[in-house]
Amino acid sequence: MRQVMVAGNWKMNGSSESVKELMAGIAAGMSSVTKAEVVVCPPAVYISRVSGAADGSAVKVGSQNICDEDSGAFTGELSGDMLKDVGCEYAIIGHSERRALYGETDELVAKRFAAARRNGIKPLFCIGETLEERESGVTNDVCARQIDAVIALEGVEALADGVIAYEPVWAIGTGKVATPEQAQEVHAFIRGKIASLNAEVAEGLRILYGGSMNPGNAKELIGQPDIDGGLIGGASLKAEDFLAICQAAE
Ligand code: PEP
Repeated sequence: MRQVMVAGNWKMNGSSESVKELMAGIAAGMSSVTKAEVVVCPPAVYISRVSGAADGSAVKVGSQNICDEDSGAFTGELSGDMLKDVGCEYAIIGHSERRALYGETDELVAKRFAAARRNGIKPLFCIGETLEERESGVTNDVCARQIDAVIALEGVEALADGVIAYEPVWAIGTGKVATPEQAQEVHAFIRGKIASLNAEVAEGLRILYGGSMNPGNAKELIGQPDIDGGLIGGASLKAEDFLAICQAAE
C-alpha cells in the first residue's frame, strides 16, 4: 500500500515573516492529517528556518533543486550535503520551470537525481509534457524520455528511492487542471512502463500529480488508482488550502 504524499512547492515566494506564519499554520493543522506524508519545499534561504519550525511536527522539508556536483566551484548551487545539513529530506528535481527557464536538460536532471541519491536525499522527480506536445499526441513519449534519462544513468531500481511527480506543463499555475481521467491515463502509462522493467519498483513507486491541484479537485485526483498524492504550487502558499489537500487523503 503506497502512502499518499502531498508536497508543497513554495517556489520564489515569501519573506522571513510570511514563511514563519505559513509553517506555523501548517504545523498547527497537522493533527487532522493522519494519512498523508507532508513535505514543504521553501525557497533555499528559508530552509533552515522552516526546518526549525517543522521540528516536532510531522512535516518534512525539501529543497526546490540540488546541484549535480558535491562541492567546489559551482557558484550559486547547493550541494546535497548542504541541503541535508539544513534538514532537507527531499529535493525537487527537474521541475518544468527549471527545464524551460534555466535550460535543464534530461541529462542534467538525471545527474541531479543521482546527486540526491548519493547524498541520502529523496528525489521528487518532475516530468510532464507541454501543451504543444500533448496536442501532438506525444505525452507518453515525453514522459518516457524524461524517465529513461534517469534509468540510463542510475538504473530502474534507483526510482524506488524517490517519488515521481507527473506535472503537465499546461496545467502548472494556469488554473487548468488535467481531468482525473487524463491524469490517471498518464500515471498508468508511467507505472506500466516502469513495471515492464521492474514490477516491484513500479508497484511501490509513488507517482504524484501536479498542476493546479486545489482543495476542490484534490480528492477526485488522489482517488485515482495510480495517483498517489500531489505536488502543489499555488495552493501550498495558504495553510488552510494546503491542509485541505492533505486531508483529501483521509
Ligand atoms: C508546480 O509548480 O509544481 C505546481 C503544481 O504548481 P501549481 O499547483 O500552482 O499549478
